Amino acid sequence: MSEKRRILTGDRPTGKLHLGHYVGSLKNRVRLQNEYECFFIIADLHTLTTRPEKDAIAGITENAREMVLDYLAAGIDPEISTIYLQSAVPEIYELNLLFEMLVTVPRLQRLPSLKDMARSADLQEMPFGLLGYPVLQTGDILLPRAHLVPVGKDNEAHVELTREIARRFNNYYGEVFPVPEVLVGDVPTLVGTDGATKMSKSLGNAILLSDDSATVEKKVRAMYTDPNRVRADIPGTVEGNPVFIYHDIFNSDTAEVEDLKERYRTGRVGDVEVKEKLARAINAYLEPMRERRAAFASRTGLVDEVIYNGTLRMRDEARATLAEVRKAMGLGGVWNSIRRKAEKAIKNRERDT
Ligand code: ATP
Ligand code: MG
Repeated sequence: MSEKRRILTGDRPTGKLHLGHYVGSLKNRVRLQNEYECFFIIADLHTLTTRPEKDAIAGITENAREMVLDYLAAGIDPEISTIYLQSAVPEIYELNLLFEMLVTVPRLQRLPSLKDMARSADLQEMPFGLLGYPVLQTGDILLPRAHLVPVGKDNEAHVELTREIARRFNNYYGEVFPVPEVLVGDVPTLVGTDGATKMSKSLGNAILLSDDSATVEKKVRAMYTDPNRVRADIPGTVEGNPVFIYHDIFNSDTAEVEDLKERYRTGRVGDVEVKEKLARAINAYLEPMRERRAAFASRTGLVDEVIYNGTLRMRDEARATLAEVRKAMGLGGVWNSIRRKAEKAIKNRERDT
């Protein structure tokens, strides 16, 4: 058994990952993967909370593969980190139900993130499952008994709820779970290319980690900037301007960034130059990821194997945790032997047919 503290985090397989995912969470995962024992969840059950339709489900497999390629491209090492498929770990459904008893409806209704999610998914009323999103997330985090959860700002309140549920469980039944800490990235929420508060796939304002350089150039050229600046000789505003927010984050040439800011403020630079330099900087930032992505993508079957190995590993952890949970809750005793006997009978029956 490893003595390392643990990380759990992950993403919903709704498509390829973007720069917001990277600076909000993925970058921290890469940085901490040697220091912590890491579990990265492909949260496919979570996609059902806003998109339960069959056509959305049909897209999950491909999205999950692309997402894992993004992980590997970003520098996650599958030899040391566990990447697993949420729906393939039966214990999560059980833990979710048990945790549902430890939280109230008004507590969940107070979370602004859920209302935002419902709104951006065009849902008029709150589905029961979406209200339960942070409870399921609590199950994800506590299933491997994680200590640290690297996420973007929008998920901070969910980890706070996880802490409450962990404490309540431990109070009721005895110490089973660590009370996990949240770790928000150096850029808690990355703005979108359109200037909207959050870069998000569903809002169509994202630069993907897998975008090629021409696509990055095109997206940067169309970026929202200071709307008052209709000519290059009009002094512009740097603060809160998405183009300069990105320069600060992604352009490693700080002298160039300072020079651009100075000339922008005094009306001595055109948007074209500012954006060309930004596109070049983002492309330099993404280039190593593109190379790694291509190398991993060329190895047929690799991604599925990574997910399979990770899922097996996680299932062992999940079984151990659930055994502790049932024991602590007193859901064991005679019922455990009935459960085991029934499981054995089913396995035997499967073998015989
Ligand atoms: P999208 O709307 O693009 O699908 P999402 O919010 O659905 O993104 P999730 O899968 O819910 O993404 O979250 C994955 C992780 O990435 C979370 O930790 C989330 O906080 C983080 N994240 C997503 N978008 C951003 C962003 N624009 N800035 C910082 N962190 C982000
Ligand atoms: Mg997503």
